[in-house]
Amino acid sequence: MADLILLNGKIWTVDAARPWAEAVAVRGGRIAAVGTTAEVGRLGGAETQVIDLRGAFVLPGFIDSHVHFLNGGLSLLSIQLRDARTKAEFIDRIGAKARELPRGEWILNGDWDHQQFDPVELPRREWIDAATPDHPVCINRLDGHMVLCNSLALKLGGVTRETPAPPGGEIVKDPATGEPTGILKDAAMDLVFRKVPETTPAQARRAAEAALAYAAARGVTSVHDVSGEAGIDIYQDLRQDGRLTTRIYFYVPITTVDEIVRLKLKNGFGDETLRFAGVKGFVDGSLGSATAYFFESYTDEPGKTGLLNGEMFPQGIMEKRIRAADRAGLQAAVHAIGDRANAVMLDIYEKISAEDPPRDQRFRIEHAQHIRPSDFARFARLGIIASVQPYHAIDDGRWAEKKIGPQRARTTYPFQSFLDHGVRLAFGSDWPVAPMDPLWGLYAAVTRRTLDERHPGGWVSEQKISLEAAIRAYTLDAAYTEFAETVKGSIRPGFLADFVVLDKNLFVIKPEDIRLVKVVRTICGGKTVFQAR
Ligand SMILES: [Zn+2]
Repeated sequence: MADLILLNGKIWTVDAARPWAEAVAVRGGRIAAVGTTAEVGRLGGAETQVIDLRGAFVLPGFIDSHVHFLNGGLSLLSIQLRDARTKAEFIDRIGAKARELPRGEWILNGDWDHQQFDPVELPRREWIDAATPDHPVCINRLDGHMVLCNSLALKLGGVTRETPAPPGGEIVKDPATGEPTGILKDAAMDLVFRKVPETTPAQARRAAEAALAYAAARGVTSVHDVSGEAGIDIYQDLRQDGRLTTRIYFYVPITTVDEIVRLKLKNGFGDETLRFAGVKGFVDGSLGSATAYFFESYTDEPGKTGLLNGEMFPQGIMEKRIRAADRAGLQAAVHAIGDRANAVMLDIYEKISAEDPPRDQRFRIEHAQHIRPSDFARFARLGIIASVQPYHAIDDGRWAEKKIGPQRARTTYPFQSFLDHGVRLAFGSDWPVAPMDPLWGLYAAVTRRTLDERHPGGWVSEQKISLEAAIRAYTLDAAYTEFAETVKGSIRPGFLADFVVLDKNLFVIKPEDIRLVKVVRTICGGKTVFQAR
């Protein structure tokens, strides 16, 4: 007898053998049957929970392939600057936060975006010093590749006009006075980060709970957490308590690879709720911070081609670490944004694939944002997964061309080019860099309408992809990316009972309305983890 039956739905299964169904039966957290309402209805008994979908649309639960889960939760609990659209509002909100927090407590996170200020300018410590004399401030841009510190935080970090920039980092200094402006980029952020007190276990638990609720409300039943060790203890506690309502597949920093290899931990350790993936590294920075690493100069900053991340030094270390990880049975996921960063990473993967014994590696490149046209074929040949975030395309699409010009923009967020070459896409959000909202992600991939509505036909419209392909990248191909395509990402017998119920059939509405669709219910392992009121 089934535990749960969903009837009278429009179910898109992401199973080529049976793309549509009306009903699903669940038993023991897994899918027992898929079929018509008449067929599946017969599997119910006195104890079966029956949900009449009344024509609602159902997909496999979304898999977000790139999140910083605990950070996302912490950002839900801290200052919100993502939508601070003016300098005045930015300053006001920071001042308000300082008044709310006890003296001496740090103001962190923020996710600000100076690209929405008019004129576009980087914030400076002078903007906020007067409002925050007693609170160290170290707030990040939404891409996490630069922070603004107030004078107090710089002092605690020992950053002065004399401080040299560490490799892979930049301390922005005023060209007139030589004094630090408060902006620290990439590796330079650590100068202040290391003075920030560690998150307490209680804060981390609250953050994880907030993140789980946020995921469930958006139909996300699995995430790939690329943020490192932070949170693993909390996830284990939550799992123990039966409260881990999102499945977490997690990476640790590539800098810890030697320890992991020594422990002989391999990809797949854990269970279907909490599972170990491998290592995550960085080749470069971000486009918004002008630290993404390109072959040619930034169009708006001649002579500047971006930065290699500190993890690329000393030279050769990235290859060494990836090789060690691969030989130990760990999956590698590496952040590469600029076209040259992607080429550098492809070189490394190519070399290791050629030299090591053949293995089902499923190497990943995170973001894979700007691709030199000749590199698509290399992605395909090496079976490298492009782990991409469609929301970034409609966000950065507002200003990316200013930074890289029209030619490079043609293969920026090049989703259709990847598909044309037979490269597998794994969709994600990069939350909290972008909202963890797959419906916005689908909307972005299918329409490429930038957030400022200035490209109604789609920015670089030839890179729009079909809805079917976009759904696949958020479900079955994301499952493939975590070696789980035989248990999730599709609605078929034997698979995990992870579903999202939506109020509209995405295939019949206008693409531009996808972002308005509401999650009605989220089911993970046969249990309802979110229900709209
Ligand atoms: Zn990320």
